[in-house]
Amino acid sequence: MGLRPRTRRGGRRAMAALALAILPMMAGASARSTNFTVEAPSTEVARQVASYAEHYRRVVARQWIGEELPDWPRPCAVRIKITGGEAGGVTSFGFARGKVVDQEMSLEGRIDRILASALPHEVTHTIFAAYFGGPLPRWADEGASLLSEDRRERLRHERFASDLLTRSGGWRLPDLFSIEEYPSDLMGFYGQGYSVSRFLVEMGGRPRFLAFLRDGMAGGWDAATKAHYGFSNAKELDRAWRSWHSVASHDLPRDDSHGDRLVVRAQSPEGADTR
Ligand SMILES: [Zn+2]
Repeated sequence: MGLRPRTRRGGRRAMAALALAILPMMAGASARSTNFTVEAPSTEVARQVASYAEHYRRVVARQWIGEELPDWPRPCAVRIKITGGEAGGVTSFGFARGKVVDQEMSLEGRIDRILASALPHEVTHTIFAAYFGGPLPRWADEGASLLSEDRRERLRHERFASDLLTRSGGWRLPDLFSIEEYPSDLMGFYGQGYSVSRFLVEMGGRPRFLAFLRDGMAGGWDAATKAHYGFSNAKELDRAWRSWHSVASHDLPRDDSHGDRLVVRAQSPEGADTR
Protein backbone atom coordinates (compact mmCIF):
# COMPACT_ATOMS: atom_id res chain seq x y z
CA MET A 1 0.00 0.00 0.00
CA GLY A 2 2.87 2.37 0.71
CA LEU A 3 1.52 5.66 1.95
CA ARG A 4 4.29 8.15 1.76
CA PRO A 5 4.61 11.40 3.61
CA ARG A 6 3.60 13.98 1.10
CA THR A 7 5.60 16.86 2.43
CA ARG A 8 8.92 17.08 4.11
CA ARG A 9 10.82 20.20 4.80
CA GLY A 10 14.54 19.85 4.96
CA GLY A 11 16.35 16.55 5.15
CA ARG A 12 15.81 15.94 1.48
CA ARG A 13 18.36 18.35 0.20
CA ALA A 14 20.93 15.66 -0.54
CA MET A 15 18.41 13.72 -2.58
CA ALA A 16 17.26 16.85 -4.37
CA ALA A 17 20.84 17.76 -5.23
CA LEU A 18 21.39 14.27 -6.58
CA ALA A 19 18.22 14.48 -8.66
CA LEU A 20 19.38 17.80 -10.10
CA ALA A 21 22.74 16.31 -11.00
CA ILE A 22 21.15 13.33 -12.73
CA LEU A 23 18.43 15.30 -14.47
CA PRO A 24 20.36 16.52 -17.51
CA MET A 25 21.32 12.91 -18.27
CA MET A 26 17.74 11.68 -18.27
CA ALA A 27 15.73 11.55 -21.44
CA GLY A 28 12.68 13.67 -20.74
CA ALA A 29 10.78 16.78 -21.55
CA SER A 30 9.84 19.95 -19.81
CA ALA A 31 7.07 22.51 -19.83
CA ARG A 32 6.93 25.96 -18.33
CA SER A 33 3.85 27.78 -17.12
CA THR A 34 3.73 31.06 -15.21
CA ASN A 35 4.36 29.46 -11.82
CA PHE A 36 5.67 25.96 -12.53
CA THR A 37 8.45 24.31 -14.49
CA VAL A 38 7.66 20.64 -14.99
CA GLU A 39 10.11 17.90 -15.91
CA ALA A 40 8.36 14.74 -17.08
CA PRO A 41 8.97 11.73 -19.31
CA SER A 42 7.09 13.35 -22.22
CA THR A 43 6.14 16.84 -23.34
CA GLU A 44 2.47 15.92 -23.23
CA VAL A 45 2.64 14.88 -19.57
CA ALA A 46 4.78 17.91 -18.66
CA ARG A 47 2.27 20.29 -20.28
CA GLN A 48 -0.72 18.54 -18.74
CA VAL A 49 0.76 18.72 -15.24
CA ALA A 50 1.79 22.39 -15.64
CA SER A 51 -1.70 23.27 -16.83
CA TYR A 52 -3.45 21.46 -13.97
CA ALA A 53 -0.98 22.81 -11.42
CA GLU A 54 -1.90 26.37 -12.47
CA HIS A 55 -5.58 25.48 -12.33
CA TYR A 56 -5.31 24.03 -8.82
CA ARG A 57 -3.18 26.98 -7.71
CA ARG A 58 -6.05 29.30 -8.67
CA VAL A 59 -9.01 27.32 -7.37
CA VAL A 60 -7.44 26.09 -4.12
CA ALA A 61 -6.25 29.61 -3.21
CA ARG A 62 -9.72 31.05 -3.92
CA GLN A 63 -11.30 28.32 -1.84
CA TRP A 64 -9.04 28.78 1.20
CA ILE A 65 -8.01 32.42 1.22
CA GLY A 66 -10.66 34.00 -0.97
CA GLU A 67 -8.32 35.22 -3.70
CA GLU A 68 -5.62 34.00 -6.03
CA LEU A 69 -1.98 34.26 -5.08
CA PRO A 70 0.20 36.73 -6.94
CA ASP A 71 2.58 35.04 -9.38
CA TRP A 72 5.64 33.63 -7.68
CA PRO A 73 8.91 35.42 -8.45
CA ARG A 74 10.43 32.06 -9.36
CA PRO A 75 8.48 29.08 -10.71
CA CYS A 76 8.13 26.00 -8.54
CA ALA A 77 10.15 23.09 -9.98
CA VAL A 78 8.04 19.94 -10.39
CA ARG A 79 9.48 16.53 -11.24
CA ILE A 80 7.21 13.78 -12.48
CA LYS A 81 7.93 10.08 -12.44
CA ILE A 82 5.30 7.93 -14.07
CA THR A 83 4.79 4.49 -12.52
CA GLY A 84 1.93 2.01 -12.62
CA GLY A 85 0.88 2.65 -9.03
CA GLU A 86 -0.98 5.02 -6.78
CA ALA A 87 0.26 8.59 -6.71
CA GLY A 88 2.34 10.21 -4.01
CA GLY A 89 4.38 13.34 -3.74
CA VAL A 90 6.70 15.47 -1.71
CA THR A 91 7.11 19.24 -1.63
CA SER A 92 10.00 20.82 0.21
CA PHE A 93 10.10 24.47 1.19
CA GLY A 94 12.72 26.89 2.34
CA PHE A 95 11.44 29.87 4.38
CA ALA A 96 13.21 33.10 5.25
CA ARG A 97 11.81 36.21 6.95
CA GLY A 98 8.25 34.92 6.77
CA LYS A 99 8.36 34.10 3.06
CA VAL A 100 8.86 31.06 0.87
CA VAL A 101 12.26 31.42 -0.76
CA ASP A 102 12.52 28.00 -2.28
CA GLN A 103 10.05 25.25 -3.18
CA GLU A 104 10.21 22.10 -5.22
CA MET A 105 7.79 19.28 -5.79
CA SER A 106 8.18 15.64 -6.80
CA LEU A 107 5.24 13.51 -7.86
CA GLU A 108 5.04 9.92 -8.95
CA GLY A 109 2.41 7.37 -9.88
CA ARG A 110 -0.12 6.91 -12.67
CA ILE A 111 -0.85 10.18 -14.43
CA ASP A 112 -4.61 10.04 -13.72
CA ARG A 113 -3.89 9.53 -10.00
CA ILE A 114 -1.29 12.31 -9.98
CA LEU A 115 -3.77 14.74 -11.53
CA ALA A 116 -6.67 13.79 -9.27
CA SER A 117 -4.96 13.37 -5.91
CA ALA A 118 -1.24 14.01 -5.46
CA LEU A 119 -1.05 17.22 -7.51
CA PRO A 120 -3.96 19.08 -5.83
CA HIS A 121 -2.61 17.87 -2.47
CA GLU A 122 0.89 19.21 -3.10
CA VAL A 123 -0.39 22.46 -4.60
CA THR A 124 -2.46 22.97 -1.45
CA HIS A 125 0.77 22.77 0.57
CA THR A 126 2.21 25.56 -1.61
CA ILE A 127 -0.86 27.74 -0.99
CA PHE A 128 -0.55 27.29 2.79
CA ALA A 129 3.21 27.89 2.68
CA ALA A 130 2.68 31.16 0.78
CA TYR A 131 -0.17 32.24 3.05
CA PHE A 132 1.53 31.50 6.38
CA GLY A 133 5.11 32.15 5.32
CA GLY A 134 6.30 29.29 7.51
CA PRO A 135 5.57 25.68 8.35
CA LEU A 136 2.13 24.66 9.61
CA PRO A 137 1.49 21.99 12.22
CA ARG A 138 1.85 18.68 10.40
CA TRP A 139 -1.65 17.36 11.18
CA ALA A 140 -3.25 20.46 9.68
CA ASP A 141 -0.93 20.79 6.69
CA GLU A 142 -1.55 17.18 5.69
CA GLY A 143 -5.18 16.98 6.80
CA ALA A 144 -6.24 20.11 4.95
CA SER A 145 -4.25 19.16 1.83
CA LEU A 146 -6.06 15.83 1.80
CA LEU A 147 -9.34 17.74 1.52
CA SER A 148 -8.25 18.75 -2.02
CA GLU A 149 -7.87 15.15 -3.15
CA ASP A 150 -10.49 13.15 -5.01
CA ARG A 151 -13.21 11.20 -3.25
CA ARG A 152 -11.38 7.90 -3.52
CA GLU A 153 -8.43 9.19 -1.47
CA ARG A 154 -10.66 10.97 1.00
CA LEU A 155 -12.63 7.77 1.60
CA ARG A 156 -9.38 5.89 2.07
CA HIS A 157 -8.37 8.38 4.77
CA GLU A 158 -11.78 8.10 6.45
CA ARG A 159 -10.98 4.42 6.81
CA PHE A 160 -7.49 5.14 8.16
CA ALA A 161 -9.05 7.36 10.83
CA SER A 162 -11.67 4.77 11.78
CA ASP A 163 -9.06 2.01 11.91
CA LEU A 164 -6.83 4.15 14.11
CA LEU A 165 -9.65 4.93 16.54
CA THR A 166 -10.59 1.25 16.76
CA ARG A 167 -6.97 0.19 17.14
CA SER A 168 -5.63 2.67 19.68
CA GLY A 169 -8.05 5.55 20.15
CA GLY A 170 -5.76 7.84 18.16
CA TRP A 171 -4.01 10.93 19.48
CA ARG A 172 -5.78 13.23 21.94
CA LEU A 173 -6.14 16.52 20.09
CA PRO A 174 -3.87 18.50 22.45
CA ASP A 175 -1.16 15.92 21.60
CA LEU A 176 -1.96 15.81 17.89
CA PHE A 177 -1.71 19.60 17.66
CA SER A 178 1.83 19.58 19.03
CA ILE A 179 3.32 16.82 16.83
CA GLU A 180 6.22 18.29 14.87
CA GLU A 181 7.66 15.28 13.07
CA TYR A 182 5.86 12.55 11.20
CA PRO A 183 5.13 9.71 13.63
CA SER A 184 5.79 6.07 12.72
CA ASP A 185 2.06 5.35 12.28
CA LEU A 186 1.80 7.49 9.15
CA MET A 187 -1.51 6.14 7.92
CA GLY A 188 -3.12 6.72 11.29
CA PHE A 189 -1.63 10.20 11.47
CA TYR A 190 -2.83 11.18 7.98
CA GLY A 191 -6.23 9.66 8.72
CA GLN A 192 -6.73 11.53 11.98
CA GLY A 193 -5.30 14.78 10.55
CA TYR A 194 -7.75 14.47 7.67
CA SER A 195 -10.73 13.71 9.91
CA VAL A 196 -10.02 16.54 12.37
CA SER A 197 -9.50 19.01 9.49
CA ARG A 198 -12.76 17.90 7.88
CA PHE A 199 -14.56 18.29 11.22
CA LEU A 200 -13.23 21.82 11.79
CA VAL A 201 -13.94 22.92 8.21
CA GLU A 202 -17.49 21.50 8.31
CA MET A 203 -18.08 23.22 11.64
CA GLY A 204 -16.71 26.66 10.85
CA GLY A 205 -15.55 26.91 7.24
CA ARG A 206 -12.10 27.33 5.76
CA PRO A 207 -11.22 30.91 6.75
CA ARG A 208 -11.97 30.13 10.39
CA PHE A 209 -9.82 27.01 10.21
CA LEU A 210 -6.87 29.10 8.97
CA ALA A 211 -7.43 31.73 11.68
CA PHE A 212 -7.56 28.93 14.26
CA LEU A 213 -4.19 27.63 13.03
CA ARG A 214 -2.62 31.06 13.05
CA ASP A 215 -3.79 31.79 16.60
CA GLY A 216 -3.05 28.27 17.84
CA MET A 217 0.55 28.48 16.64
CA ALA A 218 0.98 31.92 18.15
CA GLY A 219 -0.91 31.72 21.44
CA GLY A 220 -1.70 28.09 22.20
CA TRP A 221 -4.46 25.70 21.16
CA ASP A 222 -6.77 26.11 24.16
CA ALA A 223 -7.18 29.84 23.60
CA ALA A 224 -7.56 29.38 19.82
CA THR A 225 -10.17 26.65 20.35
CA LYS A 226 -12.18 28.90 22.62
CA ALA A 227 -11.91 31.93 20.34
CA HIS A 228 -12.82 30.18 17.09
CA TYR A 229 -14.97 27.19 18.01
CA GLY A 230 -16.45 28.09 21.38
CA PHE A 231 -15.21 25.01 23.25
CA SER A 232 -13.45 25.74 26.53
CA ASN A 233 -10.21 24.06 25.47
CA ALA A 234 -8.58 21.53 23.13
CA LYS A 235 -9.64 18.66 25.39
CA GLU A 236 -13.29 19.63 24.92
CA LEU A 237 -12.69 19.91 21.19
CA ASP A 238 -11.29 16.38 21.31
CA ARG A 239 -14.54 15.12 22.85
CA ALA A 240 -16.59 16.94 20.24
CA TRP A 241 -14.51 15.55 17.37
CA ARG A 242 -14.88 12.00 18.69
CA SER A 243 -18.66 12.19 18.93
CA TRP A 244 -18.82 13.83 15.50
CA HIS A 245 -16.59 11.10 14.08
CA SER A 246 -18.80 8.30 15.38
CA VAL A 247 -21.62 9.74 13.25
CA ALA A 248 -19.70 11.34 10.39
CA SER A 249 -17.73 8.21 9.61
CA HIS A 250 -21.03 6.70 8.49
CA ASP A 251 -21.86 9.78 6.43
CA LEU A 252 -18.93 9.92 4.08
CA PRO A 253 -18.23 13.04 2.03
CA ARG A 254 -20.29 13.25 -1.13
CA ASP A 255 -19.20 16.69 -2.24
CA ASP A 256 -16.77 17.04 -5.12
CA SER A 257 -13.27 18.23 -4.45
CA HIS A 258 -11.12 19.89 -7.10
CA GLY A 259 -9.52 16.50 -7.71
CA ASP A 260 -12.89 14.93 -8.58
CA ARG A 261 -13.80 17.67 -11.02
CA LEU A 262 -10.47 17.42 -12.78
CA VAL A 263 -10.69 13.68 -13.31
CA VAL A 264 -13.37 14.29 -15.89
CA ARG A 265 -11.31 16.94 -17.63
CA ALA A 266 -8.16 14.86 -17.60
CA GLN A 267 -9.08 13.39 -20.96
CA SER A 268 -9.72 16.79 -22.52
CA PRO A 269 -7.37 19.44 -21.24
CA GLU A 270 -8.68 22.21 -23.50
CA GLY A 271 -8.52 25.58 -21.90
CA ALA A 272 -5.02 24.83 -20.65
CA ASP A 273 -3.01 27.91 -19.95
CA THR A 274 0.41 26.34 -20.30
CA ARG A 275 2.93 28.49 -22.03
ZN1 LIG B 1 1.21 16.38 2.12
